[in-house]
Amino acid sequence: RLYNEVIELKGNIRVFCRCRPLNESEISNGTASVVNFESSLDNELQVICSDSSKKQFKFDHVFGPEANQEAVFQQTKPIVTSVLDGYNVCIFAYGQTGTGKTFTMEGTPEHRGVNYRTLEELFRITEERHGTMKYELSVSMLEVYNEKIRDLLVENSTQPTKKLEIKQAAEGTQEIPGLVEARVYGTEDVWGMLKTGNQVRSVGSTCANELSSRSHCLLRVTVMGENLVNGQKTKSHLWLVDLAGSERVGKTEAEGERLKESQFINKSLSALGDVISALASKSAHVPYRQNSKLTHMLQSSLGGDCKTLMFVQVSPSAADLGETLCSLNFATRVR
Ligand code: ADP
Ligand code: MG
Repeated sequence: RLYNEVIELKGNIRVFCRCRPLNESEISNGTASVVNFESSLDNELQVICSDSSKKQFKFDHVFGPEANQEAVFQQTKPIVTSVLDGYNVCIFAYGQTGTGKTFTMEGTPEHRGVNYRTLEELFRITEERHGTMKYELSVSMLEVYNEKIRDLLVENSTQPTKKLEIKQAAEGTQEIPGLVEARVYGTEDVWGMLKTGNQVRSVGSTCANELSSRSHCLLRVTVMGENLVNGQKTKSHLWLVDLAGSERVGKTEAEGERLKESQFINKSLSALGDVISALASKSAHVPYRQNSKLTHMLQSSLGGDCKTLMFVQVSPSAADLGETLCSLNFATRVR
């Protein structure tokens, strides 16, 4: 397949950059955009710094403010659907809170994101391959907050949800015993699951949006595939990850609970950056760091012939320049 040849040439790691449009309040208060696409080359973007100097950043793909969900999915589709060919796949949305991580992954009912479109496409392909391949799909949904893993598909919210742990399985893979794996037969089943998961997620938090920016939310699709012609069986995972906000907290805010949260977030995001940059540079040592739940849990889905895609989300606003440069520098490191 042509796609595999391309993968072979470019490696298994992709970094896409997406810049959201200026929002209504930014437009009404006359905020300038400091991210420039027009004068840039293909798949490059230019940032105008406060001293008027310009910095260029190159990606595997750049989506400007005008790029819609369909355009984003067209580039993502070949990667996500390879889970049906037995590949493990991880997709991450990285960036400052408010830059569109959830918009890219989940989207809105009017503008469906990668998660929705992916499941739809997976079910379409399984139909298409009916007779040659037999597939069983199941879905898990979990959250990592302050290094604790929480199952979002456990509905009984009056019970304190039991803490999940990662277990090293025999063949060098990681398992999370007790994590709900809900068998799904069509997109309707999946939307039901996501709704449950999002409800469970917001229970107990005074501000759901605020909490969601400080935890990693992971949707895992498990595919059991059987080739009906030669009997070959595969099991593979697709992880769709909406990461915690990457912003640094201000010195005045950083006290007590908020400080603890931000230290956990920094540690897990930098561990993830270290793993991906080691993989991208084909370094012999990959620091999966078993002391970070995120990279530990994803270990068998990162590296080897696994496919990884990172969306680096940025804001065009002059007010966010500092965070935008941090995110773009992070992206440079993993590419
Ligand atoms: P994050 O998850 O990174 O905190 P959100 O996905 O919640 O950010 O996005 C913040 C706001 O900006 C939301 O209202 C979202 O709908 C809007 N938004 C983000 N990206 C886009 C985009 N590409 N086009 C239109 N609206 C967007
Ligand atoms: Mg979000």
